[in-house]
Amino acid sequence: MQTAALRELGLDGEWSYEAIEIPPVDFEQLTGALPAEGFVGANVTIPHKEAALALADDASAAATEIGAANTLSFTTDGIRAENTDAPGLLEALARPPAGKRALVLGAGGSARAAAWALAGQGATVEVWNRTGERADELVRDLGRVLTASGDEVPNLTAVSRGQARAAGYELIVNCTAVGLDPGDDPIAELPLAADQLGRGVTVIDLVYGGERTRLAALAADRGADVVDGLEVLVRQGAASLRIWTGMEPPLDVMREAARAG
Ligand code: NAP
Repeated sequence: MQTAALRELGLDGEWSYEAIEIPPVDFEQLTGALPAEGFVGANVTIPHKEAALALADDASAAATEIGAANTLSFTTDGIRAENTDAPGLLEALARPPAGKRALVLGAGGSARAAAWALAGQGATVEVWNRTGERADELVRDLGRVLTASGDEVPNLTAVSRGQARAAGYELIVNCTAVGLDPGDDPIAELPLAADQLGRGVTVIDLVYGGERTRLAALAADRGADVVDGLEVLVRQGAASLRIWTGMEPPLDVMREAARAG
């Protein structure tokens, strides 16, 4: 996806995007050495997103408040950390989430970014997680940072399985690993009923792979608007590329490359 974008932007002669696997124990040393090797930046993924933020000399408000970075830029002033998962999710939505009632499923790194993005934009956000204490913790942490940075107390609460299943949401974001295995049943494993996934509802499934997930397929069948994980992946990648190059990323080219796998 990034390679196709660099080619389309005419940068492929001088720029390249490479996959580098780094064990957690070596993250700080190997990432710190990248600028001297000529890298202008890096995307960082699981399990390094918190370490990436800790390594940086400077960080955006999004990265600091979410507590994780997926994008590093190597500048003359040092390493800058940003989080493009949050703006990537917002850019993938057809309409702004302000005033909408949203359910965030999960309490890991991507759920934190999703809840931060949606609550920060004025949505009412309810968070459910299989391990309930982690949802409580997420809500406590983000409630604190969002209150400190804005003047309104965010609408952000943790909900039980029963509460989530009984409610009506306009936005549902799956930030769990449910769906990574094609055999996963979203209705059995998540606090969702099929009649919550109909017309007027936007379902965002962050899980991506070769095939459409069962959650995305069910929601589309029932008439919901569906944003799949590849679209969010493309949007966050495009936001990173914009930071590094200062150029407008070719979304269609990136989408086509991502979908070609
Ligand atoms: P993470 O930090 O490891 O969190 C995983 C979450 O999934 C936790 O909340 C965990 O709950 C939950 N979970 C795992 N198995 C479950 C099950 N059987 N039933 C219910 N909940 C379950 O991972 P992450 O970084 O947030 O990523 C989550 C998913 O989003 C992954 O599939 C990842 O590939 C995808 N993702 C996509 C994008 C994109 O751009 N499209 C970006 C980031 C992540 P517990 O706390 O109870 O363990």
